[in-house]
Amino acid sequence: MTSALKDLLDDGGYLTEAADMAKFSHDIVGDIVGDPIGVARPRSTEEVSQIMAWCHANTVQVVPQGGNTGLCGGSVPKGQDGTIILSLERMNAVRDLDVMGNTITVEAGCVLADVQRLALEANRFFPVSHGGQGTAQIGGNLSTNSGGNNVLKYGTSRAQVLGLEVVLPDGRIWNGMRALHKDTAGIDLKQIFIGAEGTLGIITAAVLKLRPQPVSRETALVAIKSPADGLWLLRKLQDYVGETVSSFELMHKNAVDTFYAFKPDARRPFADDHPYLVIMEAESPSRFFDLRGAFEAALEDAFKDNKVLDAVIAEANQHRLDFWAIREGMAVAMVEDDSCLKSDTSVPVAAIADFVEKATAEFERLVPGIRPSPLGHIGDGNIHFNGQRPLDMPREIFITHWDKLKDAVENISVELGGSVCAEHGVGRIKKKAVARAKSPEEMELFFTLKKALDPDGICNPGAVL
Ligand SMILES: Cc1cc2nc3c(=O)[nH]c(=O)nc-3n(C[C@H](O)[C@H](O)[C@H](O)COP(=O)(O)OP(=O)(O)OC[C@H]3O[C@@H](n4cnc5c(N)ncnc54)[C@H](O)[C@@H]3O)c2cc1C
Repeated sequence: MTSALKDLLDDGGYLTEAADMAKFSHDIVGDIVGDPIGVARPRSTEEVSQIMAWCHANTVQVVPQGGNTGLCGGSVPKGQDGTIILSLERMNAVRDLDVMGNTITVEAGCVLADVQRLALEANRFFPVSHGGQGTAQIGGNLSTNSGGNNVLKYGTSRAQVLGLEVVLPDGRIWNGMRALHKDTAGIDLKQIFIGAEGTLGIITAAVLKLRPQPVSRETALVAIKSPADGLWLLRKLQDYVGETVSSFELMHKNAVDTFYAFKPDARRPFADDHPYLVIMEAESPSRFFDLRGAFEAALEDAFKDNKVLDAVIAEANQHRLDFWAIREGMAVAMVEDDSCLKSDTSVPVAAIADFVEKATAEFERLVPGIRPSPLGHIGDGNIHFNGQRPLDMPREIFITHWDKLKDAVENISVELGGSVCAEHGVGRIKKKAVARAKSPEEMELFFTLKKALDPDGICNPGAVL
């Protein structure tokens, strides 16, 4: 039936053979294997519009897909008969790079790392940065409102957007491509599509903010006793260098051990094992700012107050990259370990120590011998409270405990005033958790919006709501 879509697109624009669709049909973790009846690969906003108008007229459901690096299965249809994938991968043109306006205007299929590179080549900076950046696309980043390691300074993906172009579920094109920092002429419509995970329309292009390129940067790896001491140190550093602090990443000993098991030849920065490490980083576009002096002063204060156990400031870029390899490597090792329970919740920053303490106690009560492995973004209140199986427990047994462990992390986050989804989104795997955590009024508002924009429910059915 959807063969009519072939006529709308060029050769290779609409795929229906299983072999051709294979790379689009499962998520990056491999947990969700979808069953699309076709994959549409438009080259322009007009083609997206024609596809959506046709699907609207024929009530065919559409799952938008970017780089397919999302960690909650939002980009792959599963169990929905007659659904197509709309891949943005061929819409990757850069429409404009305006150095004076400090903006880059790109189509949704541009890969995040390419946008970073283009900005750098123009002596500008695009700050969104995370482990999926080599494949994740701008449309996917905006649709999940992705975060990463430097949200503390620059905000999430949402904070980078000035203008947006969206194809609505009925095929109409909303052109909101304004490069405006101020626009109070009515409701800021772009905000409802950012973070909507493709449930309200297809993002086809965006005007993104650029920044001056950082030219000075300091990075330190610090050993601490507890998350509470980590937060103390973050505030101390911010007292000295304010908003230049760009990253402040917590890593539990179990997560650090996982990294060294994954990369046994990597150099260990400290002779002793410590309960937690943090990577702290500050950066500035100014050469006239003594970041190094501030780092030394903050650490000196912290040693005096017994808040740190050991510390090393990176002496060269390679040294800095070695620190970051620990943080990035542990995340990759845990994605590759299919027995590792991952989580992505947030709490108010002041509640982090409480969160880690309560979640640790609950994990140990539920599965004695479990290795709690919290890691992540202290400054955003977003600690990924992961759990690795007891060394003597096989994967098959450990995964039978996953649901109650996930519920525990989510419940503790909500009790502390937090969210069940911090930066990875809801997708297909966290719908129940969201429905549990949100008030009836909030859920009703979600559904009101969905019904108003997509009354036939053709946009990313089965995701989020
Ligand atoms: C190793 C690794 C590390 C990661 N680290 C982080 C991290 O630190 N922080 C973080 O936030 N995320 C992280 N991620 C998750 C992921 O990279 C982000 O969620 C990313 O933003 C998804 O982009 P994508 O293009 O791959 O989107 P996809 O996975 O293709 O799609 C994600 C969702 O957006 C929808 N969508 C995609 N494109 C569009 C569009 N154009 N219009 C409308 N809807 C669309 C899809 O339907 C789906 O619901 C990581 C992933 C990996 C693999």
